[in-house]
Amino acid sequence: AAKEAGRGQNKAFEPVMLYSRQLRRDMAAELRQGVGRDELFLDYQPVVELASGRMIGVEALIRWQHPQRGLVMPDDFIPIAEETGIILDLGRWVLRAALEQVARWEGELALEPDFKVRVNLSAMELQRLDLVDHVRQALTETGISPGRLIIEITESAFVSGGDVEMYSLRSLSALGVGIEIDDFGTGYSSISYLRRLPVHTVKVDRSLIRDISADPGQRHFVDAVHGLIQAAGMEAVFEGIETLDQAADLLVLGCRSGQGYYFSRPLAARQVADILETGAVLPLVQAPANSTGA
Ligand code: C2E
Ligand code: MG
Ligand code: MG
Ligand code: MG
Repeated sequence: AAKEAGRGQNKAFEPVMLYSRQLRRDMAAELRQGVGRDELFLDYQPVVELASGRMIGVEALIRWQHPQRGLVMPDDFIPIAEETGIILDLGRWVLRAALEQVARWEGELALEPDFKVRVNLSAMELQRLDLVDHVRQALTETGISPGRLIIEITESAFVSGGDVEMYSLRSLSALGVGIEIDDFGTGYSSISYLRRLPVHTVKVDRSLIRDISADPGQRHFVDAVHGLIQAAGMEAVFEGIETLDQAADLLVLGCRSGQGYYFSRPLAARQVADILETGAVLPLVQAPANSTGA
């Protein structure tokens, strides 16, 4: 239930916070080894143009295939990676792996010029003075244009951001990399910072659109949030779209892009390649299970 209250809030109730000290120590050690052992991999969730269902990009999402514990999801190990500093190595690996994947897609298939890859960054990574050099180097070595990359950073990281974080964001932006606020609407922040930051896009948290179809008041509110983002000179992306009704409501409000289980779950790189290859729009239409094909 704590999770339902929204990501970023009520962290104390997240399962990972209930892990024993010993388990957290074990997992940190295993994670450190896992990074060097190919236990980590990325799934990619399509971001779509709402009006057409066309895939206009993907968000890279990390997973950990643990030899004994099985598949571990990021909410269950990113906090441990952050508190131990492992996130720095992990973050560099994610960026590199995502860009290498885009380079493969670019080589094998024709990527639309507006196809973007989104990579999540933890606040701690923004505090590193060498972040921008790493990003620049990863882009150069993979041959990916900076305009294809969008860095996602949660609202709280922006709000608590100091000089180094601001330097990182401005430098990345100057490089041509897109900057996006993730989980917008979950923090307790003031909105006055919106216009002062080098931010291009805002990803509205799924908690804001959950009841949009059942509740006209919420629809009105989301409309206003969308207007606010546009007034700040930014583009809005809506996450957590789970139903056709939600997608249709957002479209009526003039919202242009989004992602969520309705369009597609996070996919393996191979599945993304299939969509790119066929130009299929999302959601993919499944043949009925009992179809005779006649
Ligand atoms: P996020 O960046 O907000 O990513 C969206 C999360 O919502 C993903 O969970 C995604 O699978 C899930 N999601 C997508 N569509 C829907 C939907 O329609 N309904 C619902 N209920 N959920 C949806 P995931 O993959 O478990 O990732 C959780 C969080 O872990 C991410 O939230 C992000 O904050 C963090 N994370 C993931 N990968 C990385 C990474 O490479 N680096 C860092 N620093 N954090 C990461
Ligand atoms: Mg994200
Ligand atoms: Mg998010
Ligand atoms: Mg999140």
